[in-house]
Amino acid sequence: MLIGIKGLVLKTIQRTDSDRLIVLFTVERGKITVCAKGSRSSKSKILPCIEPFAYSEFVLYEKDGFFWIKEAMLIENFYAIREDVVKLALASYICEVLDITVYENMQELELLRLGLNSLYATATDLRPPKTVKAVFEMRASMLLGFAPNVETCSVCHRGKAREFFFALHDGEIVCSSCRERSLKEYMNSRTSVNAEEEIRFASQIFRIEEDVRLAILYIIGCPADKIYGFTMDENELNSLAKLCEEHLTYRLEKKPKTLDFYNEVSAL
Ligand SMILES: [Zn+2]
Repeated sequence: MLIGIKGLVLKTIQRTDSDRLIVLFTVERGKITVCAKGSRSSKSKILPCIEPFAYSEFVLYEKDGFFWIKEAMLIENFYAIREDVVKLALASYICEVLDITVYENMQELELLRLGLNSLYATATDLRPPKTVKAVFEMRASMLLGFAPNVETCSVCHRGKAREFFFALHDGEIVCSSCRERSLKEYMNSRTSVNAEEEIRFASQIFRIEEDVRLAILYIIGCPADKIYGFTMDENELNSLAKLCEEHLTYRLEKKPKTLDFYNEVSAL
C-alpha cells in the first residue's frame, strides 16, 4: 500500500552506507521516521527532498516494519538558510525543538505551520533571527499547552500594577506587592532551603517590562498569520528574547543542544 504525506525534515541519520533515516514532521501523522534508499548517490532524485529543513511531498511504502520513500517532490527547501551561519543555527534549533516536542500520530498542524513560517521568515529575512526565535518559542509554548499567564497577577489577580515580575517556575506573573509573599510562600513550602537554592529561586523571578508583557499577550493570542504584527525597540526585544528562551527551555526541562550554538554564533 502506498501512503502520501507532506513533511518537513527535522533530522537525518545515516543508517547504512547507502541508506538514511529521515525524521519528518508531517501533516498527516505527526513525527514519522522513514528510510531513503541510495540517497547518498548524487543521482538520487529524492536527495533535495531529504536535506535538512526541506518541506516535501512523499510517497511511502511499508516494508520490514519500516516506511520507505518511493517518490518525493520538493515543495520548499528554504535554501537561503544555508548561506548564513546564524540562520542555519536558528533553523537547526527550531527543528530540534520540534523533534523534542512532537510525537508519532500527534497531529499538530498549527505547530508545523509555525515551524514552516519561522523557517520562511528566517530564509527570507522577513524578520531578524532574534524576533523569529522569540516568536517561535512563545507561540510553540502556547500550542504545546504551556503558555505563560501574563494577563494578571497570579496572586491578587490585578491586571494593572506599578511593576510585574515573571516567575519562571510557574510561568506566571506577580505584581510587586505579591512578589515578596510568593517568595516567602515558596520557601515555606520547602522542607530545607539553603542559601544557594534561595538565590537560584529569587533569580527565577525577574522584572518584566510592560511592553514585553503586552508583546507576549499578543504573540499567544493573535491569529497564526499575524505573529510578527508587533514592534518593539532593541532593548525590549532583548528582554523578550531572554524571557521566551527561558520559558520554553524551562518547560521542556532540557536545553536543546543547538541552542548553545545559536547563542554563540548570534553573539559574534
Ligand atoms: Zn498581586
